[in-house]
Amino acid sequence: MTAYDKNISEREYVSPEFKYDTEIIKPSLLLHSCCGPCSAAVIEELIRAYTVTVFFYNPNITDRGEYEKRLAGQKKFIDEYNNKANRPDNVAFIEGEYEPERFLCEVRGLERLPEGGDRCAKCFHLRLEKTAETASLRGFDCFTTTLTVSPHKNHITINEIGRDICARYGIGFLSEDHKQKDGYKRSVELSKEYSLYRQNYCGCDFSKAAK
Ligand code: SF4
Repeated sequence: MTAYDKNISEREYVSPEFKYDTEIIKPSLLLHSCCGPCSAAVIEELIRAYTVTVFFYNPNITDRGEYEKRLAGQKKFIDEYNNKANRPDNVAFIEGEYEPERFLCEVRGLERLPEGGDRCAKCFHLRLEKTAETASLRGFDCFTTTLTVSPHKNHITINEIGRDICARYGIGFLSEDHKQKDGYKRSVELSKEYSLYRQNYCGCDFSKAAK
């Protein structure tokens, strides 16, 4: 049980308005997603406990053509997932603004650093802060990200950033490592099952050049 799950349990206990007939209304979660493949296993896991809306906000994908490919893969997964029989719930979708110039401004001076360093921490912060802001403005209960499903990404850094941001926006942050319980393996399986486009670099031109 995560800290946020515990909070929800406490709210169920003290807040009868959280119940609808005999059903417990699931908390609403804004899920920042970097791409369809990473989102697939995370959605499958979280939909059991949350009403999930995917938020595609990735100004770090500096190549517009690549951005469009990943966006199309994200929408394809959600459409096909929602149309499948026996799905536990529908997934909603919001596309954030595409603003690569903002990303480039944030990481100025850090372009030559290897993946996993301070440039990536700034990149995580930019995307998570926009997710928290959107979640707060639209009345979501909490937010999180698919980013921790990647074996190349440090879940400790990502979760520290998320917790710091959620305190300022006054909403819950689901602190998880989606690599656990074979999350990455499942994302690969689902990518094949749904024929999703899988990129071979992280997102910015700097990570592409390092390949
Ligand atoms: S390597 Fe990936 S996480 Fe790091 S700055 Fe580039 S796009 Fe962001």
